[in-house]
Formats: sequence, structure tokens, C-alpha cells
Amino acid sequence: MTVNPNIHPPGGFWFSDADEVRHEAGTLQALVTTLTEYRARVGRDPGEPLKEITEQLCARTPWLCVKPEPGMVLVAKITAWATRLFRDTRRADSHKVEASEALKRSQACLGCPHRIDWSKVCPPCFSKTKKILKTSGFGISGFACDLAGDDLEAATELAQPFLLADAPEHCWRKKYDS
Ligand code: SF4
Repeated sequence: MTVNPNIHPPGGFWFSDADEVRHEAGTLQALVTTLTEYRARVGRDPGEPLKEITEQLCARTPWLCVKPEPGMVLVAKITAWATRLFRDTRRADSHKVEASEALKRSQACLGCPHRIDWSKVCPPCFSKTKKILKTSGFGISGFACDLAGDDLEAATELAQPFLLADAPEHCWRKKYDS
């Protein structure tokens, strides 16, 4: 199991060690660091902090944990892409192509084997990404390009889309890949 990085557990991130010392931190990574440093300081065996914390957290709140499946790799790529897009554009208005161009692109995606429904793989991740894209003025379809790792509605709207060196012949991204 892995902890879904997009969710904050109720009560925060904490870990009760074998010596009954309770460690707390604001993020999973910070908790791993705290535990690692504590064990080094008191001369304990380093153990496997991330694995141990994950096991305890997932036993306590199993709904925060996900089985690492191939679909989650794509979801992680899309959420990271949406976050970068938000950081770089803030508002979509000056970064969009004409609606007719976006429509032409999305029609090229219909029937493409790389068009994947990603909306149900991790519903909380989808909601979070939806919020990010809507906040910055982009649409979201729930269908991803598994080669590019982006949501196809926002991607087809972008004046400077993510390019693909290995795009199939029918792909609209080819046009921009010069
Ligand atoms: S490879 Fe091109 S045509 Fe296929 S889904 Fe991705 S963007 Fe659309």
C-alpha cells in the first residue's frame, strides 16, 4: 500500500514507535525525516521509516491508502501537470487557442488508444485536479492522454500543449512538434 499524497489524514501525520514515543509532522515526508533523525539520535536501528509509517497509517485509516496500480502512475502525472499548469499560467485566458481549434484537436483524440478515462482511478485526485484546472480557467474531461500525462480537455485548449516525440500519426500534437 502507499499513502495517497493528496489527502491529509484526520489528526495529522503521526507515528507511534516501538518505544511508545509518538512522532508528529505536517507531511508524510516530514514525518519520515523526524523518525529517521530520532532513531539516529537515540542510537536505534534505523529500520524502514516510510514502510513502517505507511503500515501504521494504512491500518488506522485504510481509506487514505491506495494499492500502487498502473492507473495511479498516470493520475500522479496528471495532478503534477495540472499543478505546474496552474503555477505557470494562473489564468487560462491568454493561454488558450480558439474553441474551433480545441474542438478539432479533441476530435483527433476520439478513438485514439491513448485516450484513457482517468476520472475514476482516484476520485479524490480527480476532484483536486478539477479544482486546480477550473480555478485557472481550463476545462477538464476526465479523459487523459496516457502518453502526455495530461487531461485532454485542458490540453486541447492550451496554446502551448505538451508535445510528444512519439505521437501517433493522427495526433494533433504532431502539428506542433517541429
Ligand atoms: S496521442 Fe494524441 S490523439 Fe492520442 S489521446 Fe494523446 S493527444 Fe489525443
